[in-house]
Amino acid sequence: MNTKQNAEKPEIILTGDRATGPLHLGHYVGSLKQRVTLQSIHEQTILVADMQGLTDNAHNPKKVSSNILNIVADYLAVGIDPSKTTICLQSQLPALAELTMYYNNLVTISRLERNPTVKSEIQNKGFERSIPAGFLTYPISQAADITGFKASLVPVGDDQLPMLEQTNEIVRKVNSLAGRTVLSECRPLLSNASRLPSTDGKNKMSKSMGNAINLGATEKEISVAVKSMYTDPNHLMVEDPGKVEGNIVFTYLDAFHPDEAYINQLKEHYRRGGLGDGTTKKILEECLQDMLRPIRERRGEFLNDKAQLVDILVKGSQISREKTAEVLFNVKDIFGLNIF
Ligand code: ATP
Ligand code: MG
Repeated sequence: MNTKQNAEKPEIILTGDRATGPLHLGHYVGSLKQRVTLQSIHEQTILVADMQGLTDNAHNPKKVSSNILNIVADYLAVGIDPSKTTICLQSQLPALAELTMYYNNLVTISRLERNPTVKSEIQNKGFERSIPAGFLTYPISQAADITGFKASLVPVGDDQLPMLEQTNEIVRKVNSLAGRTVLSECRPLLSNASRLPSTDGKNKMSKSMGNAINLGATEKEISVAVKSMYTDPNHLMVEDPGKVEGNIVFTYLDAFHPDEAYINQLKEHYRRGGLGDGTTKKILEECLQDMLRPIRERRGEFLNDKAQLVDILVKGSQISREKTAEVLFNVKDIFGLNIF
């Protein structure tokens, strides 16, 4: 992450999470850690995307509504500070839904169907031809979120890069319609671990796939998850040489262990042979337990005071309503619709 080059001119940062489940280790390395650093340097807003969560969960809306405050507690537990970061709720910002309606007219169905992330999500979710219209078009609503805040920098995992590409296409179309620069393009900010795999190594860790280690995971849950991790299937005896690439225990050690030199030594030892999976898993478990213990405790305390969590969202949404209404006004102007 290069935040230094931007130290002189603060960026406008918008990130968010779908309210589809509590946050997990993928979020932690993929974006939460960055957000904690960025909040002291830049103007940062975090959007709890409840409406986007409904695009594939309308049959089970409780899954979305019941996770809104969990996610706010996750933010606070990892160190996001509401006095430095505005935390708001997507459904409380009507300008974003209105912007989406205007942008809908600038994007073709075939362009939406080409989005590689949406394509693979449609496959994973088994929608076949019964794709909710809101799901296919969620990249447009995400473009409304990003442009609605005039975001210049968007910290994301790499699954979100196609969304930013689509956003910038919309920005260019809006500007070309206007004949001047009304909206600005955004840039992604990727972390070193921009796609943490699930413990079985088959997919990215994701809330919706039930393959995640949550930030609030109990000691037991962490232990079970680490013990079941995918390693090197050909590393049968301790003395056998083992493969580090694709070995999820090492992927996680790279992402979470603070001592890089020590992990490099372990990798050499594993490659040579003589280092068992039981030992590497024990090292990883200890590291994750130490890291998640204080987060879990703080998360529990924040969830004991739900009124405080609601208050943070109310205040953040109030500020955000004003910001997004201004962008909506500018976009409506292009279409000649600010007639009264
Ligand atoms: P869902 O399964 O409901 O889509 P999710 O786990 O993919 O949930 P999102 O709310 O879609 O989480 O993503 C929020 C942000 O976290 C995005 O920027 C996304 O790129 C990032 N992110 C999600 N999963 C990972 C992961 N495994 N590794 C790194 N970043 C991730
Ligand atoms: Mg996702």
